[in-house]
Amino acid sequence: MQNASGLERAFRKVRLLLEGDERSPGLTRQDLERMVGYPERGEGPLSYTLPPQEGLEGVRAVRFFYYPKDPEVTLIIEVEDLDGRRHLRHLKWNGLAWISPPSGLKSELVPTREVLPEGYVEIGGDYFVGFSSEEAHDLAERIYLGEAGGQKYLLCPSDSTRIFYSASVAPASLICPICGSTSLLFKSIPLDISRRPQAERQASEAHLEAKIETLVEQNRELSKQLSELISLLKRGMK
Ligand SMILES: [Zn+2]
Repeated sequence: MQNASGLERAFRKVRLLLEGDERSPGLTRQDLERMVGYPERGEGPLSYTLPPQEGLEGVRAVRFFYYPKDPEVTLIIEVEDLDGRRHLRHLKWNGLAWISPPSGLKSELVPTREVLPEGYVEIGGDYFVGFSSEEAHDLAERIYLGEAGGQKYLLCPSDSTRIFYSASVAPASLICPICGSTSLLFKSIPLDISRRPQAERQASEAHLEAKIETLVEQNRELSKQLSELISLLKRGMK
């Protein structure tokens, strides 16, 4: 947790540097070029590591990478946490401010959520709340097999994360574990996706039929061999 708040503080600091506040203006492209030494140090990409300062105590380093020639991404910010994980943010200078690049790369200046909120279990990309681990796995399997028609869940409209919840959980209190959004859509698995078990049932019936046929065939073969043996014995006894 201490680690997460250190990250949060670092991201707040970075946002303050980029956007500025009433005391200091935000970082401009010209400021960034001065920081990295462009163009004296070459064509780029050029990097600059922020010196230790208030707000950055909880992370290992914050590095700015300047891409003077890239039409989409002007600046990549790398925040390295105390475990050595790198959190990258991509930004484009639009002449006035730092904005998200058009390619949809990660740009929000908030820490990446890597710790699941209390009570969430992740299975195959879906999240389960209010279930024991065994119940969650059972449900996940039924969902996968198409046998969980009618099961209610919440859908995050921004990243399509599905959150399944038990009867003991108030769904309005839940958040998306990926983006933290609280505006989630109430959904339920349609009842008509029972095609898969039906197909499986048909397949297993066909399998059973084939097995019976084989048994009948084997039985026929055995009785033939048996009657041949009997007549052989009868001939021998004569
Ligand atoms: Zn989300």
